[in-house]
Amino acid sequence: MEKMQQIVGRARAAFRSGRSRPLEFRIQQLKALERMVQEKEKEIMRALKADLNKSGPNAFAQELLGVLAELALTMEKLPSWAAPHHVKKDLLTLRDEAYIGYDALAVVLVIGAWNYPFVLVMQPLIGAIAAGNAVVVKPSEVSENTARLVAELLPQYLDKDLYAVVTGGVPETTELLTQRFDHILYTGNSAVGRIVMAAAAKHLTPVTLELGGKSPCYIDKDCDLAVACRRITWGKYMNCGQTCIAPDYILCDPSIQSKVVENIKATLKEFYGEDVKSSPDYERIVNQRHFKRILGLMEGQKIALGGETDEASCFIAPTILTDVSPESKVMEEEIFGPVLPIVTVKSVEEAIEFINLREKPLALYVFSNNKQLIRRVIAETSSGGMTANDVIMHSVLPELPFGGVGHSGMGAYHGRCNRSRVGQFISALLAAVKAMLAKVLCPH
Ligand code: NAD
Repeated sequence: MEKMQQIVGRARAAFRSGRSRPLEFRIQQLKALERMVQEKEKEIMRALKADLNKSGPNAFAQELLGVLAELALTMEKLPSWAAPHHVKKDLLTLRDEAYIGYDALAVVLVIGAWNYPFVLVMQPLIGAIAAGNAVVVKPSEVSENTARLVAELLPQYLDKDLYAVVTGGVPETTELLTQRFDHILYTGNSAVGRIVMAAAAKHLTPVTLELGGKSPCYIDKDCDLAVACRRITWGKYMNCGQTCIAPDYILCDPSIQSKVVENIKATLKEFYGEDVKSSPDYERIVNQRHFKRILGLMEGQKIALGGETDEASCFIAPTILTDVSPESKVMEEEIFGPVLPIVTVKSVEEAIEFINLREKPLALYVFSNNKQLIRRVIAETSSGGMTANDVIMHSVLPELPFGGVGHSGMGAYHGRCNRSRVGQFISALLAAVKAMLAKVLCPH
């Protein structure tokens, strides 16, 4: 307890010194962070390989690229973001100066999850530094190699008192959460989200909760099935299914179920070759606990594809379950692994009802050639974010906020760009290149 008090106390004292607030200082710290990522690229990729078996190109595309892009955007935009925003006046206030000024909060706690262990602590850290705060970073203990590296590297590049790293597991996080913070950004599951929020409430600390849940994917009969399945395969099996916005399950008409299986099967072969297990592009389940949990979800199900496992190396092959009952265990909790259940529905109405009877998802996907149907799904459902005729892509545009709703989270990050039209065009181009790179590099 005393140790956490000391760490947070030191960060607060450093914040009170005022040195985190000048714009030049923030940009200098962000530059140092950029230098860290560039100079320590190999070490970071090694840690990601050790934690999740991420290949070099996958680690770069999924984690480092996002951090470098966030840094570049933030450093470019910070002067305009930090500037006071003048508002419209009325007759009564005509002679006044009326504006919104942006203040640092003070000490921000960032708690990360293990599935993208580098980018998930670094991006919120970038935002908190940019806003002039002191920050305590708590990486996930589950991805221990990355956590250790983050703890080792940050003090080498950043102001040691303003930006601290706490490693450890539940006891350490529990102790940390007794301290008073001025904002907490937590990424992880909804059960711990409740614990974080309850702890924050004791100090009236605002929270951003980046949680998870089951993200549905509806495939309309009228769509380009080959393209749909190719994109779903990419988003589902990337990082071995351990992606918060991976399509969790498919809803489709019974008449196309077997075609979906065949198309995904063909794409898997193209992405990972004949033997997925020996593909350098296929990750592993993070640990034995999660391996056993996912195996439990497959029990009693009809396996149409995959199903092979190896406990020693935490390998689970890309798997599809067909004719899955909505009442089965695999449909109760977020799968967070390479297992894709298909639940058949007779119509888009039934799909919408199915989605709306469950907790609001973090992401929602619909594939169709029918624009009206897509608009209907958008209008009649609620989720943190949506992509039509693709997956994951709404999370790559920095112009769009990223966050959940209801049980999938509250608050958001990203989404503040104020770009000029030229800037918007360049950013759209960069996002397209980034997306293409991601598709080319991972998983293939
Ligand atoms: P995790 O086990 O790494 O836990 C996250 C953090 O919470 C860790 O730092 C851990 O120390 C801490 N923690 C765990 N139990 C705790 C407790 N009892 N008290 C206090 N702190 C505790 O990660 P996880 O929860 O397994 O992560 C997977 C979940 O995160 C999935 O639901 C996924 O969808 C979600 N997720 C969401 C996003 C997003 O941006 N919305 C991104 C990634 C993952």
